[in-house]
Amino acid sequence: MPDEYRSSNDKSLLSGRDAASRFVIGPARGRLANAVRSLFLLLIVLPALHAEEKISVLGSKPRWNVLDHYQQTITHDKFAHLINDVYCTHGLAPDLIEIKDRAARILINREAQKFFTLQFASNSADRKPVPRLWHSAKSLPQAPREKPLSGIKIALDPGHLGGNWAKMEERWFQVGESKPVQEGDLTLRVARLLAPRLRELGAKVSFVRNSDEPTTEKRPDDFQVLARQILIKNGVPQPRADVLDPNDPAKEQTIRWQSEILFYRYNEIRRRAARVNFKLHPDLVLCLHFNAEAWGDPNSPNLTDNNHLHLLVNGSYLADELEFDDERFEMIRRLLSRVYDEELPLADTIALTMARATGLPPYEYPTTNSTTKVGTSGYVYARNLLATRLYRCPVVYCEPYVMNSKEVCVRIQAGDYDGTRNINGVERKSIFREYADSVAEGLVDYYSKARGESRSPNAMSQSAFSAN
Ligand SMILES: [Zn+2]
Repeated sequence: MPDEYRSSNDKSLLSGRDAASRFVIGPARGRLANAVRSLFLLLIVLPALHAEEKISVLGSKPRWNVLDHYQQTITHDKFAHLINDVYCTHGLAPDLIEIKDRAARILINREAQKFFTLQFASNSADRKPVPRLWHSAKSLPQAPREKPLSGIKIALDPGHLGGNWAKMEERWFQVGESKPVQEGDLTLRVARLLAPRLRELGAKVSFVRNSDEPTTEKRPDDFQVLARQILIKNGVPQPRADVLDPNDPAKEQTIRWQSEILFYRYNEIRRRAARVNFKLHPDLVLCLHFNAEAWGDPNSPNLTDNNHLHLLVNGSYLADELEFDDERFEMIRRLLSRVYDEELPLADTIALTMARATGLPPYEYPTTNSTTKVGTSGYVYARNLLATRLYRCPVVYCEPYVMNSKEVCVRIQAGDYDGTRNINGVERKSIFREYADSVAEGLVDYYSKARGESRSPNAMSQSAFSAN
């Protein structure tokens, strides 16, 4: 499930935690939340920062001068296309980004009426090179046939924490006496199967997380003061310290609950971003998740017949999100680094190999309020998640399998195994290997083609992907 940090009206993806997270950071459900919703954007600004700056929760002050490195690296038409069709598909206030013939005027600070001017390249031939640390597939030399991923640095980001943190992060449920399902453990298992496969294919693989402990050194108690401030500013004048009953709908209004979410979502993902951006410097991050539909009581979860697949790339910012100075800056930096040109075809290619291996239909979001379908596969959406925005390289965010679907429950309980087993009358690999193998196969397809060597999927399955 996505690490929600933004508002949306989609309900089908949400567990209680997702819905509740909106109390901190976006329009929440519930009477109190609705009452304070209109105040939220005005009030969430952190006190340590300048009053006139609008910075999102635990966000960093934008460094607009960095964008000077991107002067004349993009044409008017390309910039307008990316703004209109990928990043700002829900509209935006007219003063935020004004696209003129030769330049774009981007708001730095509304109160101070400060703007950044981005000069366009006059045409594609005159474009200056885009400064970036990651390598596009096309910039890499042809690879040996058996090592199609040679020279590519791939960071694996297994979503969530799992282990002892799974209940806190509400990525935990248990059906009867069966083994509890913890998304953070499942994603780590997939990452550990995927890493050696990618290395065999020539890639340099690193882990953004490779244990069931947080990347951040902070803990929920470190965020109690901030949690209290956020609650008071959101209209809870005397927030309770602790959650009394896990099923209490008012638990979101406790300091405990808010400090936990600040820890495991906001701070943890920002720490992972620092690791990606300043230490790992990958050419691609693969965010590995399992999806779910609302399961209700985690001790007696609702099971569903629905099962589906989708992948996410960054984009589709909401008008409210673009009001935050840091989010707007991060979006423009991401746009100018031209990650979309790499991550979209990558996501489309991986989507097709995953769809073929899993047989899953594309997930259809129930509304278009927070996502925008992009690409050609039918499986890929643009969405503004914290990880897809902050990692400064192409990011493909995988959301296969509904964990609380009846079939996936059976496959998770079956665990990992060699070869195939009969699942509901069909011979299937373990769900973990099916996931890992199909992602690897998509990477091979994409990089082989982009680097100038064609390989047929059949040749692949006989060499690197023997099913058994
Ligand atoms: Zn997830």
